[in-house]
Amino acid sequence: MDIPRIFNITESAHRIHNPFTPDKFAMLGAALRLEPEDRVLDLACGSGEMLCTWARDHGIVGTGVDMSRLFSAQAKRRAETLGVAERVEFIHGDAAGYVSGEKVDVAACVGATWIGGGVAGTIELLRRSLRHGGIILIGEPYWRQLPPTEEIARGCLAQTRADFLELPELVASFGRLGYDVVEMVLANQDGWDRYEAAKWLTMRRWLEANPDDELAGEVQAKLASEPVRYATYTREYLGWGVFALMPRLGHKQP
Ligand code: SAH
Repeated sequence: MDIPRIFNITESAHRIHNPFTPDKFAMLGAALRLEPEDRVLDLACGSGEMLCTWARDHGIVGTGVDMSRLFSAQAKRRAETLGVAERVEFIHGDAAGYVSGEKVDVAACVGATWIGGGVAGTIELLRRSLRHGGIILIGEPYWRQLPPTEEIARGCLAQTRADFLELPELVASFGRLGYDVVEMVLANQDGWDRYEAAKWLTMRRWLEANPDDELAGEVQAKLASEPVRYATYTREYLGWGVFALMPRLGHKQP
């Protein structure tokens, strides 16, 4: 079981597989007012940077689930490096349908809402692991500006403009699902550069080391086209943020 190999190649050097930078995860951890021994579940945890740094900085205990064999191994190594291997556990597996045995204080899916079939389904999935009074974290893209054409949406690697909302609508959508938005931390264009531009040097070095690999042609083409595509489309049109949600008091969940 693994994710498509191209991601394991292009993001092999990433600690954070989304437009957040280390300071944004630190800001989010502080914003959530985490306490020592708080339990955090992170579905599609990537290389585990959020859990490992929060274990180091706040004393949380955590479980991460990710389908990439490479990222899961990196997460375990990172936990050892940061001296938190006793506090965080990383499971290599499919996070779709994953519900924790013990209820958690924070249940997160930061940049992989396809695991629940979209934002609403992922919130519903996380809810099943959440203790009363706990917080759900959703990391999700939104349009910084609505693309004027469908072609521009596709340039942002969306299938259609309808794939994402603008920020006010995204925030409103959480309310319609019966949740209060109790915090949010948004990425910025520098963070997008760290996520996207870091892939380019990784690809260049991978090509040098793997000239005869079956994916070499694809990676070469990506390296040649991605900087302009990114600068033209994603960097201008796409935002990204993590939204902290709590079930609205008195709201009956379906
Ligand atoms: N939350 C992480 C990673 C976000 S990138 C971070 O902030 O760094 C999306 C992640 O989803 C990748 O790590 C990928 O391996 C993982 N993924 C994709 N499909 C998955 C699935 N079905 N189950 C678990 N993880 C999945």
